[in-house]
Amino acid sequence: MSGPMFQRVALIGIGLIGSSISHAMRRRNLAGTIVGSAKTEKTREIALRLGLVAEVFEDPADAVKGADLVILCVPVGACGEIARRIAPNLAPGCILTDVGSVKAAVIRDVSPHVPPGVHFIPGHPIAGTEHSGPEAGFAELFDNRWCILTPVNGTDKEAVARLRRLWEEMGSNVEIMTAEHHDLVLAITSHVPHLIAYNIVNTAAHLERVTDSEVIKFSAGGFRDFTRIAASDPTMWRDVFLNNKEAVLEMLGRFTEDLTALQRAIRYGEGDTLFRLFSDARAIRRSIIEAGQDTPAPDFGRHQVKSAKPGGSSEK
Ligand code: NAP
Repeated sequence: MSGPMFQRVALIGIGLIGSSISHAMRRRNLAGTIVGSAKTEKTREIALRLGLVAEVFEDPADAVKGADLVILCVPVGACGEIARRIAPNLAPGCILTDVGSVKAAVIRDVSPHVPPGVHFIPGHPIAGTEHSGPEAGFAELFDNRWCILTPVNGTDKEAVARLRRLWEEMGSNVEIMTAEHHDLVLAITSHVPHLIAYNIVNTAAHLERVTDSEVIKFSAGGFRDFTRIAASDPTMWRDVFLNNKEAVLEMLGRFTEDLTALQRAIRYGEGDTLFRLFSDARAIRRSIIEAGQDTPAPDFGRHQVKSAKPGGSSEK
């Protein structure tokens, strides 16, 4: 590529995703200058020290001045208020995007503040780990992962194509869909699994007849993989459930029905039913590996991963 795709990129929020975007952009020289804003002094200081941003601002409205790309990398529930604050300083022609795990609510909260001439294109990289903060990011996070863009009707096609190319340059495959469809799909592939993980870890923790040390000692029996997911950031996940309520409740309803069917098969000793359902599930796991979205290595590849980031590349 001849020159950077964007002259000045503003990252609002410099946690796992914001810092990974910085690494991925610098890996391919995609941005002239990257600046940023974060809520706490500590994160701002770390971001500067690690070279994630050339300049850092306390007020996001200062960070976006003169930027041709602004990426909101904050919890979903914070997007609306930040959009309101930065709106007066957004340059005409600039692309405003986000990385939030819920899309319809972000569009609802951000769109009313977007000035004419600014291209708002919501996005969500389906890549993450259970770690958070500016030190958690790494350049390879988006490699061979999907990034979903959910532009509303009438969005400038050239701007969408530019953002699509950016994600491809950062290593992702890009798919475009409606925000509503995104929220439904992610409810079952990401949101409900996280809820189940949080719940099973808490259920085990509250059991009176099993001691804490037994829960930890015998965790390799399956429980441990849930604890990794349940270590994810509580603020981020609180916001996901508050903002994707309908789709999550719909999927939880179906999940509960299927769980009841399993419960019934166990109660009545229906071995054939259990075997068939488990075989179907195993086939899904094989398809995920064939699609390159996980490794066939035992133990979820945990011991084989070369990256310094344990648990890296799990879907969020
Ligand atoms: P993170 O590591 O916790 O970082 C969040 C960043 O946002 C931090 O820099 C934080 O600043 C800043 N922030 C938080 N609340 C803010 C507020 N009210 N105003 C201004 N800045 C605020 O989170 P993350 O994992 O990068 O997630 C960011 C977004 O990406 C979320 O919307 C999430 O849904 C989405 N996402 C996450 C994953 C994942 O696996 N983690 C995957 C895909 C998409 P301080 O550090 O100073 O508090």
